Amino acid sequence: MKYPTEEEWRCRKCGTLLGIHRGESVHVKHKRAQLVVRGHVMAVCPRCAELNETDTTPPTDDARPAA
Ligand SMILES: [Zn+2]
Repeated sequence: MKYPTEEEWRCRKCGTLLGIHRGESVHVKHKRAQLVVRGHVMAVCPRCAELNETDTTPPTDDARPAA
């Protein structure tokens, strides 16, 4: 099955791959486990310890506020 949206979530500081946005969830690999999370997600970068935040709600044109 191909998800409608699939986007890499990378550390904002060093670019390490933290997870992958797929639809309304984020898949995060951690050693042998794979976490699937929804909502507001925070992750500490394993390389540089930067705290990264993301939201699993994909941005859409409809939700964008009028400029
Ligand atoms: Zn990093």
